[in-house]
Amino acid sequence: MPIAHPRRVQVGGSRYSPNVPVGAVWAMREAPGHARSLYANPHAVGVCKRTCRGRVHDLDEALTLYAVHLDEHPEIVRQAATEPDGVRFACRCPLYERCHVDLLLRRVDELRAAV
Ligand SMILES: [Zn+2]
Ligand SMILES: [Zn+2]
Repeated sequence: MPIAHPRRVQVGGSRYSPNVPVGAVWAMREAPGHARSLYANPHAVGVCKRTCRGRVHDLDEALTLYAVHLDEHPEIVRQAATEPDGVRFACRCPLYERCHVDLLLRRVDELRAAV
């Protein structure tokens, strides 16, 4: 079973009333009370309306495309690396499922290890 990055947390509440753990950074697309995060995956699992004109992605493909997105936009990883060390990143995904936030935070760890 995949294990979430230690700094990923899960958004609770309902779709209409998301409940973000205190102090965590919103890392998802827009939702009531939250603007779209810089860290959101532009590729949705299921129908990808926003980026791929309705093409359907499974989770593997959505995560692969997010990795490409980070390759193309290294400033996103650099920005995430400026968040204080203990700050956690919140997404709706259960912690036992793979999530784009894990990819992002692994890249942040690599970036920090490289300096
Ligand atoms: Zn897409
Ligand atoms: Zn997620």
